[in-house]
Amino acid sequence: MGLRPLLPSPRTSAVDSTVAGGMAAGVYPGEMPFEGLLITEIFESLQGETSLSGLPFTFVRLTGCNLRCTYCDTAYAFHGGLKMSVEDVIGKVEAFGHRRVLLTGGEPLLQRATPRLARELASRGFDVSIETHGEHPIDEVAGVARIVMDVKTPTSGMSRGGYRANLPLLRETDEVKFVIASEGDYAWARDVVRSGEIPTREILFSPALPARDTPGEYPGVRLDWLARRIVEDRLPVRFQYQLHKLIWGADVRGV
Ligand code: SF4
Repeated sequence: MGLRPLLPSPRTSAVDSTVAGGMAAGVYPGEMPFEGLLITEIFESLQGETSLSGLPFTFVRLTGCNLRCTYCDTAYAFHGGLKMSVEDVIGKVEAFGHRRVLLTGGEPLLQRATPRLARELASRGFDVSIETHGEHPIDEVAGVARIVMDVKTPTSGMSRGGYRANLPLLRETDEVKFVIASEGDYAWARDVVRSGEIPTREILFSPALPARDTPGEYPGVRLDWLARRIVEDRLPVRFQYQLHKLIWGADVRGV
């Protein structure tokens, strides 16, 4: 977790993602032959994104994703994971003692039990957020959790418009994020915003910096370039830089 440098286990790493019995390569969690959840990690940290950036959260990272974005920084959540019941996950979340919970991944909505987890947490008074790429139906969690929809921009290699079917289900208090990993991404996202199809009050533009380890995989953008473009174009969007990476570093897991 984000607090790993300050608070050693057990409070910072509730799940060992290397535990045997997790998801095999090529098997999506929705196809799992059990009713529970497959969890990569549960940890506490500061929320690094959205309008709630800077607030303490418990993070539940579910295993598995059907996309392979060029700039993915959580590929460790594609495979492995620990089988847990919904009740076990709730117990871990309650033990951390934070009011806010983010269900993330991977893609959390691939798992059949995720809507039940969201409902159970909400019924216990937690303020639940779900981060999703938006290609999976959100109908079972709309209105239960704050949806943060990460609309895939062209440079991700995964931009295929699947999010549009979910737009009518978004509430004004949900949030839509665009990762801007190239100048082309900016122009594309700007046009989507100007089209008026995004119904939420919060629209987030999140820069992906040029890749250090895999130069050329995606171009990335400079922070000042993106900031200037947003201001010059008078876009009604929030510039956000991932706070957890600023605090803990770009390659630290569980933050
Ligand atoms: S949707 Fe998210 S977890 Fe899945 S590949 Fe893309 S960035 Fe990674």
